[in-house]
Amino acid sequence: MRGRIYFDNSATTPLDPRVRTAMEPFLAGTFGNPSSLHIEGRQAREAVEQARDQVARLVGATPDEIVFTGSGTEADNLALIGALSVEGHPAGHVVVSAIEHPAVLATCRHLERLSVAVTEVPPDADGVVDPSTVAMAIRSNTRLVSVMAANNVVGTLQPIALIGALAREHGVLFHTDAVQAAGKIPLDVAAMNVDLLSLSAHKLHGPKGVGALFVREGVALGPIVHGGGQERGLRSATENVAGIVGFGRAAEIAREEMAEEAARLVTLRDRILGALANALPHAYLIGHRYKRLPGHVCLGIAGYEGETIKLLLALDEAGIAISTGSACSAHHAGEPSSILLAMGFDPIRARGSLRITLGRFNTDAEVNRFLDVLPQAVATMRPLTHRAQLERSLS
Ligand code: PLP
Repeated sequence: MRGRIYFDNSATTPLDPRVRTAMEPFLAGTFGNPSSLHIEGRQAREAVEQARDQVARLVGATPDEIVFTGSGTEADNLALIGALSVEGHPAGHVVVSAIEHPAVLATCRHLERLSVAVTEVPPDADGVVDPSTVAMAIRSNTRLVSVMAANNVVGTLQPIALIGALAREHGVLFHTDAVQAAGKIPLDVAAMNVDLLSLSAHKLHGPKGVGALFVREGVALGPIVHGGGQERGLRSATENVAGIVGFGRAAEIAREEMAEEAARLVTLRDRILGALANALPHAYLIGHRYKRLPGHVCLGIAGYEGETIKLLLALDEAGIAISTGSACSAHHAGEPSSILLAMGFDPIRARGSLRITLGRFNTDAEVNRFLDVLPQAVATMRPLTHRAQLERSLS
């Protein structure tokens, strides 16, 4: 894939070579089961516990508040299903934002089938959830509020600390899906007033197939995977030692380099926005201008909303990987984004967003190339109004 430009870091990130180096011994020589009592087992246990400490430090938690899972999706499932089923059968009421990842929203659909009531609160037109709308949705039987720290499609940051404080005031547990935010913005579970927080290694230059849930000390959860009792009984299964070690190292690097990396990505992001404002006057930014992830650009191009898949493919052909909306949209190509609909976009605009997400290994030169290629690609497409006029004149 030499020469390719990868601007889809919200879908997944390339493995950092330093993470790979940390993982390698655990893919070969050091193969023990962390539950075994012999030296091989103890070596694996020590590595898992070191990683737990590294992940905990990324979010200001203590190591025994971190439960490793098989993904961010599983962490979200454990948070919601686990919190609602402590006393056996799930019951009660959950408040979530309408722009959560399917890992949360599809879990809510599952809980509804088990007779849990769910209220979805919409964001404003910038994709920001107003804490007062969350407060208004809380009822006497509400057990959990779940609002993501940063949105995967539009990149907007949510007022997590305020929502957490409100949930606490009402005596309700607060979960945040921080899969997109972790490693990009500072996270502190104490300052954010969160009880449960989901993470995923592959979004911060770690390996795929490993995640974690922060579970505040004293918060009771029911398990969703039953078995040998690993991870304090919350996630039975022999641990993915190499993956967990990679996650730990990735979290450590992210913590050490976040401030510098974020500043660099904000500069690149703002350069893209500034240049496109001139080169593509019909382009508009989707999501809040400032309350957004450092390297995240979500773009609409007025009149070209129907052309986004063609634009994506034209860029792909030119060697640049971007996305339309979210990774999951590959399964729903051409459908309006439920996130943009929830933000009040009409179905045509909600169908047409381009997501450009920058990461650790992107360079100035890559941004220059993108700024050359995108306007050229747009120039080869026909705007909607032009097509409509053409159709009218032909009929
Ligand atoms: N939550 C958010 C906000 C995400 O963006 C994603 C992945 O795109 C997930 C959860 C799921 O994480 P994973 O891919 O580790 O299952």
